[in-house]
Amino acid sequence: MRRVAVLGATGSIGTSALDVIARHPDRLRASVLAAGRDVDGLLALCRTHRPAHAVIADASALHALRDGLVALGLPTQAHAGGETICALAAGDACDTVVAAIVGAAGLDSTLAAARAGKRLLLANKESLVLAGELLMRAARDGGADIVPIDSEHSAIFQCLPPTAGGNRAAGSAGVARIVLTASGGPFAGQDRRALAGVTPEQAVAHPTWSMGPKISVDSATLMNKGLEVIEAHHLFGIPVDAIDVLVHPQSLVHSFVEFVDGSTLAQLGLPDMRTALAVGFAWPQRMASGVAGLDLLRHGRLDFSAPDLDAFPCLALAFDALRAGGTAPAILNAANEVAVAAFLARRIGFLSIPALVADVLSALPATAAASLETLLDADARARARATDALAAHAA
Ligand code: NAD
Ligand code: MG
Repeated sequence: MRRVAVLGATGSIGTSALDVIARHPDRLRASVLAAGRDVDGLLALCRTHRPAHAVIADASALHALRDGLVALGLPTQAHAGGETICALAAGDACDTVVAAIVGAAGLDSTLAAARAGKRLLLANKESLVLAGELLMRAARDGGADIVPIDSEHSAIFQCLPPTAGGNRAAGSAGVARIVLTASGGPFAGQDRRALAGVTPEQAVAHPTWSMGPKISVDSATLMNKGLEVIEAHHLFGIPVDAIDVLVHPQSLVHSFVEFVDGSTLAQLGLPDMRTALAVGFAWPQRMASGVAGLDLLRHGRLDFSAPDLDAFPCLALAFDALRAGGTAPAILNAANEVAVAAFLARRIGFLSIPALVADVLSALPATAAASLETLLDADARARARATDALAAHAA
């Protein structure tokens, strides 16, 4: 029986993870549920899944959580605060952690689970972008198994042969390159001029995936694909020049791995994150996820094209940040988080997202990322710089 901590339980990935868990009461149990500030959402999940522990990051909501659990007659223990989320992720209450908090806010708990040697179903890609080397080292030292919960990286994970340590590394597997597919988002095919006036509602209306607001905007700018390039580099040890991106609007081919002998493997499936989550829970076995198989006759065609880096400069910014190395990806990620939040709050326009990220990257040159402190300092400085620059980009 896997005892699972679902961090970010009320979100899109958290909900999908709990759906898969509920299908396998004989193999999986949700023992810890954590959320940011949505107490009612967390209570509703506690009622269905009856975890041993429920944690709300926002400490001011602890009373409401405790009272709500008592009112429901549940034995679930109530907790609050980010440190408690880390302690529970690292402690005896779970052996498996679904890291599905959005943004750099997920770094501490992801690191805690890695150091404690958990099976880590890693959806929080921002933690890999911010501190990829440190996180991969923590997982190696702690004996954690990382299984990526991102459709592209799950595809690559499934296509690569296992290495001796159980984790996947492309270096020794004869891999020539990997190709990440991108849906292109809701604005694929549009030019810069058309993008100037798009609204948050249009940006979060993703054509193929249903996701939280931040990653939906990232998909619309192609920053999501840029973050995924950095994610793939760290997860699989692939050099930046061996990572390519193809736009594939149907979102059925989740990525490709090309080997040195000319063979290319791909993984296909419907765009539903429960498949990747079931891979994470059951690997190296398989379990039902609730997702149907693929009927290619019904879908008919698979299209591919090159990304438009002029209309969507975030992808190039991310490639550049990975090449620059050191603190550059942390700065990119932090500036992007500030820019996306400002766009969702209607403070800046869509094209200001890449402009703001580029400004912050050029204002703060990359330095060596020697320690977690250095990276967190770069993250904080980039957030401050981006916040200052918002006025100049105001819509
Ligand atoms: P979401 O906005 O739907 O959910 C975010 C969750 O994080 C919520 O439960 C929220 O309460 C919680 N949270 C926010 N701040 C927190 C904090 N400070 N402490 C504790 N909890 C906090 O987001 P999502 O779409 O589920 O994405 C989650 C992560 O998974 C992101 O990193 C995203 O890039 C990644 N991801 C998502 C998808 C997808 O299909 N949604 C696919 C691939 C990767
Ligand atoms: Mg993805």
